[in-house]
Amino acid sequence: MVPDQPGTPIGLPRGAVRPAMHGDRVLVEVQPHTSGGLQRGTIKEILGHGQTRIIGVVHGEPGSEQLVVPSNARYGDPARATQDGLAVPQGMVVSAEIVEYPTSYRSAVVRIDEIVGKDNIEVMLSTEVVGVGGDGRLERLTLRTGGDVEEVPADGLFVLIGAEPRTEWLPDEVERDERGFVLTGSDYGTSVPGVFAIGDVRAGSVKRVASAVGEGSVVIQHVHRRLEQEAARA
Ligand SMILES: Cc1cc2nc3c(=O)[nH]c(=O)nc-3n(C[C@H](O)[C@H](O)[C@H](O)COP(=O)(O)OP(=O)(O)OC[C@H]3O[C@@H](n4cnc5c(N)ncnc54)[C@H](O)[C@@H]3O)c2cc1C
Repeated sequence: MVPDQPGTPIGLPRGAVRPAMHGDRVLVEVQPHTSGGLQRGTIKEILGHGQTRIIGVVHGEPGSEQLVVPSNARYGDPARATQDGLAVPQGMVVSAEIVEYPTSYRSAVVRIDEIVGKDNIEVMLSTEVVGVGGDGRLERLTLRTGGDVEEVPADGLFVLIGAEPRTEWLPDEVERDERGFVLTGSDYGTSVPGVFAIGDVRAGSVKRVASAVGEGSVVIQHVHRRLEQEAARA
């Protein structure tokens, strides 16, 4: 546990951490003794949850009890998957929404809603590439996860920086989903007549160059039809 005020981290025995997940804000009672050079503490209260999802590997087949085991052990204990999520075979790496947080007596419950890959992929959350190295070619990466730094062998590095729709400037009348992507109908029209959205910014779009270009070529006929309708009304 890293204190808000400047100070040294406090060690929490594994059993005492069970109701808390990585990233939670917690109230900790500091114990008078130290162990392994660390001041020890026990969690008294969870003040706020730091994560709404976990990424991990599915254990168990659909139809039976399935667990999602976090890819990175520091992200918590295995969580039980609800039956109403995606039906995903054992061994897949998934992203799952936390629907019930863990308590001292039971593990977290999650709903699987996205397949991320197969179990030969390790997803490392909150990890930065802070260095690259090699003799004439890429041979290793330096990764930092919190305070931990490690070197891993690598002969390829592919960067995908993610997608923020950046639509905050749009008026409220242009409806968006909870992540800010613009909602459209099948003609790419938004909730405001005459305003269209295509490409990555559109909710549900495929996020590929060819599909963005394709949507652009299709929407133009809807724009022309709209302009004709307006001209006829004038
Ligand atoms: C790292 C990375 C790798 C990718 N690799 C592939 C790949 O291999 N193959 C593939 O098919 N797709 C790939 N994609 C996805 C692909 O880039 C997008 O699907 C595609 O560019 C979407 O086109 P777009 O025109 O919808 O949006 P964009 O290409 O994002 O264009 C939007 C433009 O609008 C501008 N803009 C934003 N806000 C404003 C504003 N307020 N005012 C004025 N201008 C604004 C932006 O600067 C940008 O130039 C990749 C994406 C990323 C990030």
